Amino acid sequence: MSPKAEEVEIGGRRLRLSNLDKLMYPDVGFTKAQVIDYYARIGPAVLPHLAGRPVTMVRWPDGVDGKSFFEKRCPPHAPKWVQTTPVAWGLTACVVDDLPTLVWMANLAALELHTPQARAESWGRPDSVVFDLDPGPGATVLDCCRVGLELHDLLEQLGLTAVVKTSGSKGLHLAVPVHTAATDDETKSFALAVGQLLAKRDPKRVTVVMKKEERRGKVFVDWSQNDQNKTTVCAYSLRARPHPLVSTPISWEEVSDAIDGGDPSVLSFEAADVLERVEQLGDIYAPNVELVQELPQLAQKGA
Ligand code: ATP
Ligand code: MN
Repeated sequence: MSPKAEEVEIGGRRLRLSNLDKLMYPDVGFTKAQVIDYYARIGPAVLPHLAGRPVTMVRWPDGVDGKSFFEKRCPPHAPKWVQTTPVAWGLTACVVDDLPTLVWMANLAALELHTPQARAESWGRPDSVVFDLDPGPGATVLDCCRVGLELHDLLEQLGLTAVVKTSGSKGLHLAVPVHTAATDDETKSFALAVGQLLAKRDPKRVTVVMKKEERRGKVFVDWSQNDQNKTTVCAYSLRARPHPLVSTPISWEEVSDAIDGGDPSVLSFEAADVLERVEQLGDIYAPNVELVQELPQLAQKGA
């Protein structure tokens, strides 16, 4: 039995962890202690993806069956050592640069951690282009895999490497690391242009139109996620689903095998699976924070 509250020392910081035996995922008996343990252990993999960015917490104080709220502001009760940054829309956000901050957030029942594409110090200059592949009604994650592979091939023809992760919910997230001086207007236009090309090639399966009716049976390539005020769930974040699913980096081979196997459940990874994967594979999403690539000019202004 886990105790209800406990004082711990992590990375030289004292933290009081509370309600440790509270059920955060009641269907499977996954407690707050297990949420904290997951984040503490996944720390080395997730921290590079959080570092330097204003983080939006999504908190479920009473577990995934209860109410949730987005917390974009770093709460006034945050310990003094939690790093913060002012953000463009006029508030001060938390920055997760170390393990104690990550564990402090887990203790706030911040199951999901969401980040923008840019770091605070280079706001408006995103580190990557994101393609959020959402299955419309009647489509599944396997349809997202098919479109994801097309997208991967197209990007490869442009000389660009892309990494991919499950959203931990319904779809897939693809990222093209840039780490150059590209602005979010440029990454957004690039994502739209590439999405339009895919939709033109295969209009029955792909759309870039946000309208719900347009999406039936198709994959919606959400290019608008590249806006500087938008966030995407961070790689390795838990999701508030009935099971403790994780937004999990996967290989292109796994994407292709999932299509061949026809079973979408092979792409559902829970906290324990992800810890094991990272132990074996390391952080396969690392290119997203390391790889420098230049976007091609797809359109000439005024041409
Ligand atoms: P799914 O696979 O179900 O689409 P997702 O995480 O991609 O999961 P989306 O609805 O496609 O969810 O949204 C993409 C991203 O936009 C989210 O990961 C989240 O960071 C952000 N987002 C979505 N809804 C909100 C909201 N109400 N407020 C703030 N940010 C949001
Ligand atoms: Mn999505």
